[in-house]
Amino acid sequence: MQTPLTIGSMMVHAEKFFAKKEVISQTHDKLHRLTYSEIGERTRRLMSALGQIGVQKGDRVGTLAWNHHRHLELYFAAPGMNAVLHTINIRLSPEHIIYIINHAEDKVLFIDEDILPLIEKVQDQLTSVEAFVVMTDKEELPESGLTPLYSYEKLLQTGDPAQPFVTDIDENDPAGMCYTSATTGKPKGVVYSHRGIVLHSYALGLADTAAISESDISMPVVPQFHVNAWGTPFACTWFGTTQVMPGPRFTPKRLAEFIDRFKVTITAGVPTIWLGLLRELEQGDYDTSSLRTVLCGGSAAPKGLIQAFEQKLGIPFAHAYGATETTPLATFSRLKSYQQDMTEDEKLNERAKQGSLVPGLEMKVIGNTGEVAWNGEEMGELLLRGPWIADEYYKDDRTAGAFIKGWHHTGDVVTVDEEGNIQIVDRTKDLIKSGGEWISSVELENAIMAHDAVFEASVVAMPDPEWQERPVACVVLHEDFADKVNKRELLDFIRPQFAKWWLPDDILFFDEIPKTSVGKFLKRELREQVKAHFKV
Ligand code: ADP
Repeated sequence: MQTPLTIGSMMVHAEKFFAKKEVISQTHDKLHRLTYSEIGERTRRLMSALGQIGVQKGDRVGTLAWNHHRHLELYFAAPGMNAVLHTINIRLSPEHIIYIINHAEDKVLFIDEDILPLIEKVQDQLTSVEAFVVMTDKEELPESGLTPLYSYEKLLQTGDPAQPFVTDIDENDPAGMCYTSATTGKPKGVVYSHRGIVLHSYALGLADTAAISESDISMPVVPQFHVNAWGTPFACTWFGTTQVMPGPRFTPKRLAEFIDRFKVTITAGVPTIWLGLLRELEQGDYDTSSLRTVLCGGSAAPKGLIQAFEQKLGIPFAHAYGATETTPLATFSRLKSYQQDMTEDEKLNERAKQGSLVPGLEMKVIGNTGEVAWNGEEMGELLLRGPWIADEYYKDDRTAGAFIKGWHHTGDVVTVDEEGNIQIVDRTKDLIKSGGEWISSVELENAIMAHDAVFEASVVAMPDPEWQERPVACVVLHEDFADKVNKRELLDFIRPQFAKWWLPDDILFFDEIPKTSVGKFLKRELREQVKAHFKV
């Protein structure tokens, strides 16, 4: 039957079938526990209140917020009334935040209390916003220059608790928007349809992907403004999964405590988050036995990290790949049934790959002379298409370079093995071109990070008069090893794994590697620092 796939219907399902299940949410001032029945009613009130402040079909509702229940309610209220949820990355520069809000033409902004000052400063430059709503536990509105400014909880009180979700929605209508965090140039907007988000939620529930189910207790550490916390809040609500929202400015300590206290079974985030949590878990005394999956994506999961979680802590680790343009789940790394008798080393090698395509999507890998052979060696750019892969950038002429003849060109260079598992060699722009050949910065990083003394490593290209570019490694050592390990030792450690010309020309030691707003290595900035070091 042709029934539309809509986001509102996911919340209706949760209200009906999982009325007693809970969302546990940390805000600035307190810990909240709300059932899906309560969340559903609050979402209905919010839809009604959004209408009262002038939000109509197709309008963009911007959010500048951490992971908490109010943000979750907006995930359903905006699309539930056929408006568009636009989650904004609060860690971007003010310049990019202004650009994004104006480009998306957000009509209303929902803002966490601690983020108000950021928006107050740029208020004069916002061209489309007609109202601001502060998300706070406090009774009184905070002092603020933003007008008109509403309080979230007071707005909810004025809303109708029985407001229906709009049902005559075209499933292809826009439901959500995110902008890429823009490691180069201006951020690019991606629009998600109701259909895309619903089908992506099914994909998160498959047994061979994240297998999210009612019996899980899910803690999204990846921010709700980073590709919608990878879509997990939509799937979890629909499936009746208990959700634990870690709230503003969380620390590894809070994450560890929440895992222990709320018996979290699945949690998702980027590798840098897991490096921090690893340190906390090794030092503290936490019960993490409830965890069945630490889901890692956004950057390559180093083998050493997978090993540390699984072998030292006994916590299962899973590696997945995606992007803003892919909603984001695209590939998931999992051993096939007939691969179980591999050696531990072979298994680790397989699982550190980005894995195979999630059912429902299609891929092609295009090298210099057409599609590459599935031999784990030939490199090419990964192209994707499918119901939750974007087909354009929102009002942006960069669409032409990234969406060609119905395929999204990801900008990721990969190999494919005989099983169809992809392995990311690099982003096109981070590959090191040395003497006409390519060197993968990612492979070098992973090899260096496998050394016990290394906390983080990032490899960048330096201009070279003879070879065009040469790799230089930037390394942060664990505190206990500071000054105890030198360049030569690290080079000797990775030497057996690489051809001689792949080895970095130099290794520089850093206190910290600059990171993007979502915790990935910021190679553009790092390259500048390295250039300054070599005075090039
Ligand atoms: P940005 O491009 O601003 O970093 P995204 O979050 O959309 O924002 O990043 C998507 C990119 O992140 C992918 O194209 C890929 O380069 C990288 N990426 C995502 N997951 C992985 C992974 N598991 N391993 C390696 N790289 C990854």
